[in-house]
Amino acid sequence: MSDNKIFVTQPSLAPLEEYVEILKGVWERGILTHNGPLVQQLEKDLESKLNLDYMTVVSNGTIAIQMAIKALELKGEIITTPFTWVATVSAIKWEDCTPVFCDIDPDTLNIDPAKIEALITDKTVAIMPVHVFGNPCDVETIAAIAQKHNLKVIYDAAHAIGSSYEGRSLLNYGDISATSLHATKLLNTAEGGGCITTNAALDAKLKRIRFFGHDENKDVVEDGFNGKLTEVHAALGLANLKYYDEVLEDRKKKYQYYRELLNCIEGVQFQDVKVGETNYSYFPIIFESEEQLLKVEKALNTSDIFPRRYFYPSINTYTKVVAYQACPVSEDISKRILCLPLFLNLEKEEQEKICKIISSL
Ligand SMILES: *Cc1c(COP(=O)(O)O)cnc(C)c1O
Repeated sequence: MSDNKIFVTQPSLAPLEEYVEILKGVWERGILTHNGPLVQQLEKDLESKLNLDYMTVVSNGTIAIQMAIKALELKGEIITTPFTWVATVSAIKWEDCTPVFCDIDPDTLNIDPAKIEALITDKTVAIMPVHVFGNPCDVETIAAIAQKHNLKVIYDAAHAIGSSYEGRSLLNYGDISATSLHATKLLNTAEGGGCITTNAALDAKLKRIRFFGHDENKDVVEDGFNGKLTEVHAALGLANLKYYDEVLEDRKKKYQYYRELLNCIEGVQFQDVKVGETNYSYFPIIFESEEQLLKVEKALNTSDIFPRRYFYPSINTYTKVVAYQACPVSEDISKRILCLPLFLNLEKEEQEKICKIISSL
């Protein structure tokens, strides 16, 4: 970086030469998009790296959620969490469905499964939980509720590449998991995303939807649109994938170091993460009050350190786009949670400096 500012994240990037090497093939072939060889390679490599049955990579994570809704032909109410990025909810709305907010568990920060059933009506068609900060949702209880009420489950798994549940990639859960390959995520293609499913027919449908609804004979058989990832983006994904293990391991080490450094501070709380299953992709810290958070944020900013208030505000309070439904836990946590800088090039000394500032207040 050209200055000394430390932001909440920095994209993980392979050495430029390695990216350029892959790009040479793109120039030689003259194929830039339309399910090109690098897109297919990226899908294959991610499937084998993460042990997935089927993955369809797409142009971004928001489109991945929309495509999941489209593929499952959902029309009605979708129960989701207000403690998320606004894209979860805008994707639901763009597919003409209605978001219904279910409050979160104050410890895991994920949707509270005990509060889902009370929200089910005759219009409910699906549940869309988010694996918040990569921490696995209670996938078994959610699957049981869905089965009992004949609902679909789509996971917003934007944070969940690298997370697992009982030894399997977390992306295998739900009818479809939608992930993101955005610049700020653990693995990135600059912009990008993907739909993951264990159902071959559903995967084929997702691939048709991605390509204007065409089948192999270019007949339009599906209400599709353009969800394609380009070869240039896939090339970046392939280059970055080589460093995926290193990034994953590094996140865990840095997460643990933060915990060590912050453990003795009074009045702060941490997300209750599933050890060995979360990918430690973010480092959220929950303060006693918003006042304390603002004090810490200001002190860090003064030292050119810029953490982010993820997720703030709670999406159910965005009354310009959604009807307000009270979710007191999410509203409360949103005001008190701050994500500290966490990325590959963050130095130990920088972590120490950040924690020293926090503990001095
Ligand atoms: C990043 C993110 C998305 C959207 O992904 P894009 O690739 O940026 O469209 C959706 N949900 C959550 C929780 C995210 O963090």
